[in-house]
Amino acid sequence: MASKAMPSALKFDLIAKCSVTKARASTLHLPHGPVSLPIFMPVATQASLKGLTPEQLEETSCRLCLNNTYHLGLKPGQATLDAIGGAHKLQSWPHNILTDSGGFQMVSLLRLAKVTEEGVRFLSPHDGTPMLLTPEHSISLQNSIGSDIIMQLDDVIATTSPDLARMEEAMKRSVRWLDRCIEAHKYPERQNLFCIIQGGLNLDLRRECCKEMVARDTPGIAIGGLSGGEEKYAYCRVVDTCTDLLPEKKPRYVMGVGYPEDLVVSVALGADMFDCVWPTRTARFGNAITSTGTLNLRNSAYADDFGPVEEGCGCICCRPVAEGGLGITRAYVYHVAAKETAGAHLLTMHNVYYQLNLMRQIRTAVVEDRYPDFVKEFFAQLYPSKDKFPGWAVTAMKGVGVDLLE
Ligand SMILES: [Zn+2]
Repeated sequence: MASKAMPSALKFDLIAKCSVTKARASTLHLPHGPVSLPIFMPVATQASLKGLTPEQLEETSCRLCLNNTYHLGLKPGQATLDAIGGAHKLQSWPHNILTDSGGFQMVSLLRLAKVTEEGVRFLSPHDGTPMLLTPEHSISLQNSIGSDIIMQLDDVIATTSPDLARMEEAMKRSVRWLDRCIEAHKYPERQNLFCIIQGGLNLDLRRECCKEMVARDTPGIAIGGLSGGEEKYAYCRVVDTCTDLLPEKKPRYVMGVGYPEDLVVSVALGADMFDCVWPTRTARFGNAITSTGTLNLRNSAYADDFGPVEEGCGCICCRPVAEGGLGITRAYVYHVAAKETAGAHLLTMHNVYYQLNLMRQIRTAVVEDRYPDFVKEFFAQLYPSKDKFPGWAVTAMKGVGVDLLE
């Protein structure tokens, strides 16, 4: 274990705690400005959120977005990142950036990736040369990117894997790799390294991992390896178990989560930060996220629907022209959706705004200590009747003192 205390480049102010659930509201002060938590972070894969300019992303009120280390490492590559002075400058983004370690992308994108104690071995997608991503290399890349939050390289395996021995090995290796990441990190005074709790769906492994990771005292803590097709009941048990063991005064990031109902329940279980490609990816298929559910605007039912994508939405796409918006109608999106880019672009703006606005409403409800009522109203809007509420959400909420069915 690293013996010296790690410097931190963030300040975490806990603003309010829900008196019933484990929900928290806080302000995370990062090198590129303060961020209100709970937060959803949109994923800008190659230093751009598909379809949006940095100004349009800023307009959604996003102040912390996610970049993929794997993609930036390939293109423009580390030498260019060093020359230009990092990803903020590359994409003229004045706000905060979080980067992943690159490991998950490799394992999920490259069939031939193989994990050894040294790191992740893979064949270059460019020319097939054998390459190796080590914890040291991942941190070096993220140091060149200059992201405000950097993630440790971890050994990720599918949560649904039945191989408990491999699961334990991955968890313990992730702890050893964290130590190597801490050792390799060149700029702890300006970039915050987050550890990643592993252990699959096994609660004992998760508990052991929490203990080991918390002892390393990183500025923030992530719960990883979830959202991989496991049952939502199991997902909630893992998040609930981990947050009970994490220090109160540090941000908690659950990786890969983005469905609105997952966000609402996960906040009740004590999580603060989330990311997911779903809101932007689904926009490219013509899907609009709304408080009554996801609408596919490629459906001909919307051909003559002259209402906004969502009534009352404050995004630039839905806002009337008189209020400085574009006044886009569902009919317009329907008609351009088939031609792809313009429709995808508009829905990306709407969906990102929806997610960020949902998190803002969540935060206000926590601050005003009415989060249980907020969650009940949220599910009542999303589902036609209580008997349609998902069982996992009812169970998880009951576990933190809220009966959605009462
Ligand atoms: Zn909108």
